Amino acid sequence: MLIDCHSHIHVDAFDSDRKEVIKRAQAAGVEKIINVGFDVEGNFKAIALANEYDFIYATMGIHPHAASEWNEEVGEKIIETCKCEPKVVALGEMGLDYYKNFQPRELQLSVLRAQLAIAQKLELPVIIHCRDAFNDLFEMLPHFQLKNVLLHCFTGTLEEARVGWSRGYYMAFTGIITYPSAGSLREVFRGCPINLMVAETDCPYLPPIPNRGKRNEPAFLRDTVSYMMSLRKDVDSSILSANSIKLFSL
Ligand SMILES: [Zn+2]
Ligand SMILES: [Zn+2]
Repeated sequence: MLIDCHSHIHVDAFDSDRKEVIKRAQAAGVEKIINVGFDVEGNFKAIALANEYDFIYATMGIHPHAASEWNEEVGEKIIETCKCEPKVVALGEMGLDYYKNFQPRELQLSVLRAQLAIAQKLELPVIIHCRDAFNDLFEMLPHFQLKNVLLHCFTGTLEEARVGWSRGYYMAFTGIITYPSAGSLREVFRGCPINLMVAETDCPYLPPIPNRGKRNEPAFLRDTVSYMMSLRKDVDSSILSANSIKLFSL
């Protein structure tokens, strides 16, 4: 069994063949998909999709790139919706992106803080997107009592990874791990505690080899997971699935 912990199949890139993509995922052994929202409009599309398919779950969050969409009303609506939509299993993606820096840092920080406060209140796990911002992220997270933290599509250093593991944060690996240039990520993977690792596609982005350059989809998770298993003898898909089930209380 495979669980895709992070996909965006609600986006336009799948409008022409979403049903087929979902069928291919099931045929490839993907038994659960966490479909992650990242902006106001997409959050509701993600929930609608999760309500159509038993094995698809949804999350709600405002990505750092979309931080300008945030206001108090957006936060209230997230709280209200989470309370009445049982398929919403986490908040996020939320976080800090100082690599792209599409939004001012102060705004990214305050929007993240506001969402962490909601996650604490609702006792939901959080999916964190963090690029080149681990100092600020690691400073902020302990100010909140959070059920579970997932560092999605982790691309930080081994030192940063160790801080995360020491606090019990889960870590998700994408197709990036299959890329020839990803030597340092493979080092992080080799050091990752077995009980904290999960796998994700982040589709339509980041397809694993041999589909690099194409649109990614949940069925390709198979290639990422086989590659992870080839790197570590103690890793198998049932451990990754068990971790995902625990992380999101599926
Ligand atoms: Zn992300
Ligand atoms: Zn994402």
